[in-house]
Amino acid sequence: MSTDKPDLNGKSCGRAFVDLHSHSTASDGTFAPADVMRLAKKSGLTGLALTDHDTIAGIAEAAAEAEKVGITFLPGIEISAVPPIDNGTLHILGYGIDPASPILTAMTRALIEARDNRNPQIITRLRELGIDISMDEVLAQANGGVLGRPHIAAVLVRKGVVPTIKQAFNEYLGQGGKAYFDKERLAPRAAISRIRESGGVAVLAHPVQLRTTNDAQLERALKDLVDLGLQGIEVIHSDHSDEMVKKYSKLAERFGLLKSGGSDFHGKNKKDIQLGVANGNRVPAEWMERIAARTTGNHKNKS
Ligand code: AMP
Ligand code: ZN
Ligand code: FE
Ligand code: FE
Repeated sequence: MSTDKPDLNGKSCGRAFVDLHSHSTASDGTFAPADVMRLAKKSGLTGLALTDHDTIAGIAEAAAEAEKVGITFLPGIEISAVPPIDNGTLHILGYGIDPASPILTAMTRALIEARDNRNPQIITRLRELGIDISMDEVLAQANGGVLGRPHIAAVLVRKGVVPTIKQAFNEYLGQGGKAYFDKERLAPRAAISRIRESGGVAVLAHPVQLRTTNDAQLERALKDLVDLGLQGIEVIHSDHSDEMVKKYSKLAERFGLLKSGGSDFHGKNKKDIQLGVANGNRVPAEWMERIAARTTGNHKNKS
């Protein structure tokens, strides 16, 4: 088994652990980038990748704090792409991207524009449903971060429309919900290419969310992505059971892919998720080292 459970004290028994999937207030997390780094240090992690949705706005702050507290930092991003299966989700993580890359800047600008097209549609529909909510309230909730559905969900919870963020997604914001609108997504080829052209390593996030219905379908989807330049797969994630971790680990080995893993920490927007722990599993620091060694941008991982 290539994963490790924390012992009863949450200590790592001498081994080093990292978290390679986390969100900050730069997107839909509730901890500022520097606070995510401080929490990582406090949680005993030796390294962390910040992977905000569609933005690198939190990277500079996180990198500076990482240096201050003495933690290895890998700049990252998480990008939504057109999924191979209709009701599935395809997210690609980009690790070690160069924040100064003009290709990256152009891509994040286009992705945020796609959100700017979608978000007002959601608000209009919610208002048509008789819910008292405004774009200004949602923007205030995002507080300058890339505006995502969790921000809208948080406003719905605060106003007592729904009891939890989960319920907001089930009833209104998730696929099949009363106020669901898709946003324009990048083709997988473009997402992978842009990440690599920006010096990054392209990794498939939470493969369980592809919603493939059998192993053959999963393997076909993975092979297609590998043919497009995918370099790694997220083996450990909060949505992955131990059985899935084993399965994705074997697939990584079979396809010659880097292994990644993380909690997908969002702070209070995902209350059940603790930084550094993904459904009881922890991510070995060596995985981070291997990924960092494959980045080609200016922002090399320090060790
Ligand atoms: P967006 O980027 O606006 O499309 O929203 C994506 C965010 O919503 C990600 O952080 C997801 O983890 C979160 N999300 C998607 N579906 C759900 C759900 N059913 N419950 C809670 N959060 C969700
Ligand atoms: Zn998110
Ligand atoms: Fe994701
Ligand atoms: Fe995420």
